[in-house]
Amino acid sequence: MKVVVIGGGAAGMSAASRVRRLRPDWEVEVYEETGYVSHAPCGLPYFIEGLVKDKGLLSVYTPEYFIKKRKIMVNTYSKVIDVDHRGRKLKVLTKKGEKEVEYDKLIIATGAKPFVPDPEWLEVDKVFTLRHISDGERIREAITKDQEIVIVGAGYVGIEMAEALGRLGKKVTILEALPQVMPALDPEVANDVEDFMKKRGIRIRKGEKVKAVKNVDGKVVLETEKNEYKADSAIIAMGVRPDVDLALKAGAKLGETGGIKVNEHMWAGVEGLYAAGDNIEVLNLVTGKPSFIPLAPPANKEGYVAGDNAAGGRAVFPGVVGSAITKFYSLEIGMVGINEKLAKGLGLKVKSSYIKHPTRAHYYPGGKWMKVKLVVEESRRILGGQIIGLEGVWGRVAALAVAVQNRMKVDDLFYVDLPYAPPYSPVWDALIVAARVTK
Ligand code: NAD
Repeated sequence: MKVVVIGGGAAGMSAASRVRRLRPDWEVEVYEETGYVSHAPCGLPYFIEGLVKDKGLLSVYTPEYFIKKRKIMVNTYSKVIDVDHRGRKLKVLTKKGEKEVEYDKLIIATGAKPFVPDPEWLEVDKVFTLRHISDGERIREAITKDQEIVIVGAGYVGIEMAEALGRLGKKVTILEALPQVMPALDPEVANDVEDFMKKRGIRIRKGEKVKAVKNVDGKVVLETEKNEYKADSAIIAMGVRPDVDLALKAGAKLGETGGIKVNEHMWAGVEGLYAAGDNIEVLNLVTGKPSFIPLAPPANKEGYVAGDNAAGGRAVFPGVVGSAITKFYSLEIGMVGINEKLAKGLGLKVKSSYIKHPTRAHYYPGGKWMKVKLVVEESRRILGGQIIGLEGVWGRVAALAVAVQNRMKVDDLFYVDLPYAPPYSPVWDALIVAARVTK
């Protein structure tokens, strides 16, 4: 039996490793377009900033590790260009030309690619997107002498790149189509994030939808519906789309979000075909609807489940609650579940609160602030929360993720026995106070 995995990222390598673990005697092969596997694109802003010096650190394991230690035949610089799933064969483009590869079961873990409305934008000199480690290397080199850089999109990548470029001393402007930064947050939380970013010298222009990007006199010119912006270089961070071309060729179907439709076993609806990672849609446990939430932790678990089932197991991926965290300088920004905008859009009756609270006991030195927004349904079920602050955000978001995933009521959150000591929290923790005021 031979299992082939397309894509050597988080989902692909988790899938391949799980097959190997369950089936020591099967052949397991991975085909990866770039030179890296188990790579961590989440680390690219920190690599561009210079905080992470060695690009090799962005790969958890090397191809050689998988080949020698796990007996997984990893093929780098090998781009799969065609699939004939009925005939159980692939066409792969390598440095030496095209070759055909046969298989019995296929796991597609091709991830997501940056959304760019017009491919010509990428032909413009000094305009970049972030996907692979090689993009990080290109950007790091190309911007060395640049003074002014425009980022298109104030989402996750936009915020993280704004910090990286700010720390490199660049003058950064963000152009955001919406009337707020970070669309995953409710407006009042996004406003706090925006104020913080402005204090760090980032120029933010909201309601500026970029329509065209070109080179004029050696500069990058970005045209919006209202204005024109000039810069030495530009980073396009307008979101991502699932990379589904090969899955469609293999006979998979897409769901309503545009991601590959899979069941809870990561089975793509055709015998012997599985998909996992940023190319699929998954069940949102809060809304009960399919959602496209391309993030690394679920991708790893989906890969594990796809590999398990491809190897004959019955592992189940339950769904996601959209836990996420990022930072801009010292401001930690975390969220889980759905926000108030989305809940109201779904026709739900909600109650919410937004409180500011200290992070440590008032007498303990060095305390900082955090703000918690809770969104609660009429039934008192917690639908989600957003937390920003200068320390301790991860832990509170993590606690809230467990509560949301287990459909906890806000009244029960109030009684959760959170740990306490003066250096870590006031005796009434921010999360407990938020639960009390939303009751
Ligand atoms: P995003 O969806 O977070 O943000 C894209 C932003 O671009 C949005 O604010 C959108 O309104 C804006 N935009 C879209 N079209 C525009 C236009 N024409 N002009 C101006 N603005 C426009 O996407 P991203 O920042 O590209 O990140 C990609 C994915 O990577 C995200 O979906 C996220 O899941 C993931 N990611 C997560 C983390 C994390 O969890 N820490 C970090 C980085 C990336």
